[in-house]
Amino acid sequence: MAYLGNPQGTIAVLQKYQFRFQKKFGQNFLIDPHVLDKIIKYAQIGKEDCVIEIGPGIGTMTQYLCESAKEVVAVEIDRNLIPILKDTLSEYDNVTVINEDILKVDINRIVQEKNDGRPVKVVANLPYYITTPIIMGLFESGVPLDSVTIMVQKEVADRMQTGPGSKDYGALSLAVQYYAKPEIVANVPPNCFMPRPNVGSAVIRLIRYDKPPVEVRDERFLFALIRASFNQRRKTLVNGLGNAGILLPGTERTVLSKDMVLQGLQEMELCESIRGEALTLEQFASLSNLLLEKNGEHPDNSEKR
Ligand code: SAM
Repeated sequence: MAYLGNPQGTIAVLQKYQFRFQKKFGQNFLIDPHVLDKIIKYAQIGKEDCVIEIGPGIGTMTQYLCESAKEVVAVEIDRNLIPILKDTLSEYDNVTVINEDILKVDINRIVQEKNDGRPVKVVANLPYYITTPIIMGLFESGVPLDSVTIMVQKEVADRMQTGPGSKDYGALSLAVQYYAKPEIVANVPPNCFMPRPNVGSAVIRLIRYDKPPVEVRDERFLFALIRASFNQRRKTLVNGLGNAGILLPGTERTVLSKDMVLQGLQEMELCESIRGEALTLEQFASLSNLLLEKNGEHPDNSEKR
């Protein structure tokens, strides 16, 4: 079997199949065995684990995963890679390759079929052009997840891990930290990939919480607030949220107003000119709960209850 985790192995396979990289699919294949070893180590894959790999490429990391896990499901969008994967993974009987777009595939169904609905581990060297939708899709679709260990652009890894006061802090930081504990476990330079990306990369591990670290009355409302706050990053929360047209849950037509936001901030003893980038996850959760409570007390809505 071809060993792929170094430049020679990868080049041999690419030449054999006259493979052409497709930029639109974010194809940067890993060619460094140390990095591959690290990813497997930090993902803590054991013989009882079912792993979902997003974008196996020519199967480099997939081979490592097949060696360590009980079962591997690899979802690859590029159909030109399917015959290559058939060849490079021919020795393994614990792998299924699915030729699909990860954003369209029903991962819940895969987990049900392959792991009886028990939590899976996701491991991937992600295509960078769709990192955020992939991560948010995994968490928001309620896929039973144990952990997610992924290679992403260094700047995106920083964004996931950071808190208020940093320029990297934003909706992605808050969403990730609501669902999981993030930890950057390795920085990876461009020369570990073929072709080399223009940016530095990092491996980040997200360990899913059993229960989110904050209590919220309505998750969708919380995320609507968070998104609106960072859509207009330079605006104060009062102006940003008050102009965003956010509908209050449980009502058909009540839109969050500047006054409501102002009252919420006053009750939390926060300055009325504060911006979203200064609020912690706990504060966003409190504000969202408070606004919903107030909404329940609102005369327009009480009769509907
Ligand atoms: N895992 C391989 C490695 O580490 O060498 C390849 C990683 S490469 C950064 C990203 C892979 O994701 C490519 O194989 C690409 O074709 C695939 N990909 C891109 N968009 C995808 C999508 N929407 N769904 C599934 N796979 C996708």
